[in-house]
Amino acid sequence: MLILVTNDDGIHSPGIAALAEKLSEKNRVVVVAPDRERSAVGHSLTLHSPLRAEEIRTGFFAVDGTPTDCVNLGIHGLLDSPPDLVISGINRGGNMGDDITYSGTVSAAMEATLMGSPAFAVSLESNRFQTEDFATAAEFASSLAETVLERGLPPDTFLNVNVPGRNQPRGVRLTRQGKRLYEDVVVEKVDPRGRKYYWIGVGELGFKDLDGTDFHAVSRGYISITPLHLDLTNYRSFDHLSAWKLEGEGGNR
Ligand code: MN
Repeated sequence: MLILVTNDDGIHSPGIAALAEKLSEKNRVVVVAPDRERSAVGHSLTLHSPLRAEEIRTGFFAVDGTPTDCVNLGIHGLLDSPPDLVISGINRGGNMGDDITYSGTVSAAMEATLMGSPAFAVSLESNRFQTEDFATAAEFASSLAETVLERGLPPDTFLNVNVPGRNQPRGVRLTRQGKRLYEDVVVEKVDPRGRKYYWIGVGELGFKDLDGTDFHAVSRGYISITPLHLDLTNYRSFDHLSAWKLEGEGGNR
């Protein structure tokens, strides 16, 4: 089977190396990944400048673009046939709850889904990132890849996988997307020329410890698999919004 591997930590990250190596045991693997770290770029696409892909070693293409660029370019330009599966990861750090809307790792799997390819994202939630932790996550990703290749995914669905670090996982949980508690911290500093500058996204963030969520499972040592889809419609809001009569007389049912 042909598997396209990408990430947002960059082609030189240990997570992508562990994943590509493990998958290569049973599959043909082509890596198309950003040439440097592009975490938290979300689903951004490079439309106003050219992209260059350098094959830094056989089957490893470093692209000066985003994770989404890599999947798009990989599928339409660099691969000689469509991939049977696209895997994004192994990301350094979890991608759970509301954070996934920022995630380049998850967006790459999203892009593959848009291109009609089965896909999943895999992230390692850990504070220390030892090589052996990536090995555990790579092993799980490899066995999940086999299952996905054999059974297929439901239509328009991709998987967001988060593996706990530290110890051996206690098991696997199918979960829903959890809820992040963001802090409104902006650090303001002054540069050597006397001008203010700012850092956003600083500090340890909490989460709502809700049963059945990705955060809940991973914080208890389980591998979390959240099935995601691209339809962002909030169906539960229709009742509330239809009362606004936005569609005019007779427009609502
Ligand atoms: Mn990352």
